[in-house]
Amino acid sequence: MQAAIRHDWSIDEIQKLFKLPFNDLLFKAQTVHRQNFNPNEVQVSTLLSIKTGACPEDCKYCPQSARYDTGLDKEKLMEVEAVLEKARLAKKNGSTRFCMGAAWRNPKDRDIPYIVKMIEGVRDLNLETCMTLGMLTKEQAITLKQAGLDYYNHNLDTSPEFYGEIITTRTFKDRLDTLENVRASGMKVCSGGIVGMGEKATDRAGLLRSLANLEEHPDSVPINMLVRVEGTPMAENEDFDHFEFIKTIAVARILMPKSHVRLSAGRTEMNEQMQALCFFAGANSIFYGEKLLTTENPEANHDMELFGKLGIEPEKRHGYSDEVTEAALLETVVESQEPALFYDAAVQ
Ligand code: SF4
Repeated sequence: MQAAIRHDWSIDEIQKLFKLPFNDLLFKAQTVHRQNFNPNEVQVSTLLSIKTGACPEDCKYCPQSARYDTGLDKEKLMEVEAVLEKARLAKKNGSTRFCMGAAWRNPKDRDIPYIVKMIEGVRDLNLETCMTLGMLTKEQAITLKQAGLDYYNHNLDTSPEFYGEIITTRTFKDRLDTLENVRASGMKVCSGGIVGMGEKATDRAGLLRSLANLEEHPDSVPINMLVRVEGTPMAENEDFDHFEFIKTIAVARILMPKSHVRLSAGRTEMNEQMQALCFFAGANSIFYGEKLLTTENPEANHDMELFGKLGIEPEKRHGYSDEVTEAALLETVVESQEPALFYDAAVQ
């Protein structure tokens, strides 16, 4: 029977899912996944940082905050043509969605005309568009939607209870307001969080509950594993248990059956076997190639090698993906099956 779409999850129910025996939880998640998606397809996006560093916010995990000395080169907003050049490359390499991120508290009105040109240019390439620019007003959300922006990313980061330990320069409610403005404009919502920040198990349940109990589930749910960057207050955090990460993916899949659950930051610290388990647990979206904002992402061809080994194909997006893109991706997957290109997952 098809799992019902619910928006009334309690913490107790979610914690019970986390406490299931691992195999039972994964079986349940995979069952829900198969009811809603082709289990052998994964959506592929490329992420580009269009404005890096010098962010006034104080998110404790983030190397882009101006408050921490992380040695990051600060950059101005990229020129429109330079962004489009990267988008062409992403398309050539087979991405179907191009995500652009800027380290801002919120976009200023003077930035909007450039942002609009970027969105229009990327759309003209027949790519889906996604942006993450910080908090958005209602009016800004409408302007971006009218320019053709498909998705807006704004993460909740963690549970409402733990949130104040991580960020003090904006509230959890501010984040919910931005999500509301995005949804009201007609754009699709991309929202998830980060695990491994020192939160308790109840906070992971609380994060997923906040996402699943939104009026509509986010279309995309990125689940990030903390990347410890020297200079940030979280540089010395303890290792996060990988099974707990896989369980978080599985519970997200069960709670939000029709959302794309994305393996995001932290993927470089996962070997192939762990990524495969995440796909089995219901993850069906990745960032491909390029850099994940300021954190290295596995090389694009490694991703395609793994897809080849697992019999996974990049998801086709109706109305956007075209024959050229699909052919490029399939060619990469086939080429990646050459044994000479295989690498040792254990040392990845
Ligand atoms: S997570 Fe975003 S808002 Fe927070 S410091 Fe980093 S770039 Fe700024």
